[in-house]
Amino acid sequence: GKTINLDQVEKIYQTRTGPVQALSKISVNLDSGSFVSIVGPSGCGKSTLMNLIAGLDTTPHGSIRINGEKINGPVDGNAVVFQKDVLLDWRSVIDNVLLPLEIQGISWWSRPNRKTNKERAKELLELVGLKGFEDKYPHELSGGMRQRVAICRALIQEPELLFMDEPFGALDALTREQMMYDLLRIYNKYKFTCIFITHSIEEAVFLSDRVLVMSSRPGKLVKDISINLPRPRN
Ligand code: ADP
Ligand code: ADP
Repeated sequence: GKTINLDQVEKIYQTRTGPVQALSKISVNLDSGSFVSIVGPSGCGKSTLMNLIAGLDTTPHGSIRINGEKINGPVDGNAVVFQKDVLLDWRSVIDNVLLPLEIQGISWWSRPNRKTNKERAKELLELVGLKGFEDKYPHELSGGMRQRVAICRALIQEPELLFMDEPFGALDALTREQMMYDLLRIYNKYKFTCIFITHSIEEAVFLSDRVLVMSSRPGKLVKDISINLPRPRN
């Protein structure tokens, strides 16, 4: 996992109609290995904040440190899952999961456990209940299954830091609940640091060690809640 420190982070978008301040003076420290949810109304700056920490966007205002090092762009060991899965329709399920390794040119002999990439992809698919779906294509899957594939594609990068922006936002209630249990099982197994954006307080409380509540105009942190509920562990 990774420790994250934000000090007086602000974000101002320049738009045609003038500057829009999306974040105001965000200071917070997140512990390595923790599961942190960010909740708040639409437009309060959740995605903006996540994008900055994930290095998908930058700001000149304030500092963001990961393991003590100031970041200003993408960082190795990050993986991101968005609300809308971005699977490639012309690739099979397993080839979608393998995509990041192909892009990074990572082959099996560079891994300590010497499992082939395909073996690892299969294991991950099995972990999310998609054993037997390796050779299907995205259009043959339900929304929940597609999002599970997107999660596998993130996990195959062995991220130390996993970012999720409303990953279950487009799913029906039952699927969403199953996904929450799956995600918790995965988190308990792999122990990454997780930053999870959601509209749902229920999801946040179920999944997190800590819930950051934001409010808008401009986006700021208004509550920082530690959750000490016993969570399912298996
Ligand atoms: P949330 O994720 O909580 O819905 P966002 O981070 O998407 O909030 O947006 C925060 C504010 O910044 C909103 O007012 C939004 O309209 C504005 N915003 C987000 N992205 C951009 C952008 N690329 N350009 C201009 N304004 C933006
Ligand atoms: P979310 O609430 O999940 O952040 P939005 O619909 O607010 O989704 O934003 C979707 C995308 O549009 C994001 O990439 C965001 O940065 C961008 N965006 C949001 N508001 C604006 C804006 N006012 N101007 C330009 N881009 C924006």
